[in-house]
Amino acid sequence: MNLYQISIDDIDSDRGGCTTYTLVKIIASLKRNDSRFKILGFPRLVRLNPNVPYKTRGNGALYVKFESLLTQDIILSIAKNVIEEDIKNYGEKSQSQPTLIIASGEIQPNERYYNDSLTKFLLNVDDSLIQKNYLIWPNKKNRSLVGTLAALHANFSDDCSYELLVYRTPAQYGKTRIIDQKQLKSLQSEFKDSLFSNYDPIEERELIAPSGSDPIYFGLRGENPDLLKKIMSQLKLNEKIQSSMIFQSNQGTGIHLEHVNNDLQEFSVFSSLIMIRTEPLSHKGGYVTFRGWDQYSNNSLKFIAFEPTKTFPKLFSNLIPGDLIMIHGSVKPSTSENTISVDEVCIIKLVDKMILSAPYCPNCKHRTTKAGWKKGYKCKTCSFATRNPNVLNEPRENVPLGHYLPVKSAQRHLTRPREREYRRNKFEGYKARG
Ligand SMILES: [Zn+2]
Repeated sequence: MNLYQISIDDIDSDRGGCTTYTLVKIIASLKRNDSRFKILGFPRLVRLNPNVPYKTRGNGALYVKFESLLTQDIILSIAKNVIEEDIKNYGEKSQSQPTLIIASGEIQPNERYYNDSLTKFLLNVDDSLIQKNYLIWPNKKNRSLVGTLAALHANFSDDCSYELLVYRTPAQYGKTRIIDQKQLKSLQSEFKDSLFSNYDPIEERELIAPSGSDPIYFGLRGENPDLLKKIMSQLKLNEKIQSSMIFQSNQGTGIHLEHVNNDLQEFSVFSSLIMIRTEPLSHKGGYVTFRGWDQYSNNSLKFIAFEPTKTFPKLFSNLIPGDLIMIHGSVKPSTSENTISVDEVCIIKLVDKMILSAPYCPNCKHRTTKAGWKKGYKCKTCSFATRNPNVLNEPRENVPLGHYLPVKSAQRHLTRPREREYRRNKFEGYKARG
């Protein structure tokens, strides 16, 4: 038996298709051609830097490791046929630039490259990343080569999650997806330690069904593949399904925040300790802007908290200059100055909020009045004068310290959600599964 690894990226387009489904069809086609074909572990859905502008729905590449009797050339032609069929249906004349890599044998994972693909906007790849045992199609450097290589080099050893993806029959493509919200809500609460980001109890809506014409009916995210399979068997479905597949993923692991270098390049991930410098300003449209001092680089930076996050505009309207917060975000390009869009916040320390008022006169106990701009205070009865105001500290109890996330519908695929705060699933290595 020979060992192979396949990775693909950017097969779908805004006209339909889904790269996960292309991989499902490649696996099915390989199985048909090789009775001894065996997947090792689970196929992987590898999420990459969420800020990269070249993406159809989310930035992710696909990967699978397997054993087969087939040669690398035959695998290439089988996989290529599936991809070309999908491009004919969905990708032609679109912006998609698909890439397929088939590696034979083991490869030496390049952790640094994987980390860069999670945090930076990579446009090119270093030739040294392309190893001798790779077959690459097409025979030119595509934009999606970046993601395809990243999926090969992904490292899930510290944490991973799972997503069960369920695919529709072609007759259903483009039709409204009907999800039993009640059942989903009760499943999410029954298995709250094993499921995440499937239902938003605050906005009271399901988060599992995409909205486009792609072949996905829904995707159920969880910690345990066996439990996902069990839940799937109990689900009331409102349409006939084509197939389903469990993917291992880095979704919900927050790994993109672990190796940030804050170079402020466009579309890169940002994470630093910030002292608020200017009063946060609310704008028409519900977003908030302010400036802050980066406590590590000493730079003054511009921040923006967008309305769809719901949490942040309200939170920032209660923050004042001097407050110390950790900000995780993304660098948005702008003609004047790159701006950091806030994705997560941790409130570390709040300064006292002082309220200055006219002091009481020590002689006649009346409240003094302002003597004029920058002139201090004066008593009207006895002409006592002072420059010192009365200082009161306003309690800041309306801003509890701690970690703040956007509402679920505005969270990134990689964001570690509340349900996974203390959860780590160690990847125990590849096991053969049929
Ligand atoms: Zn007085």
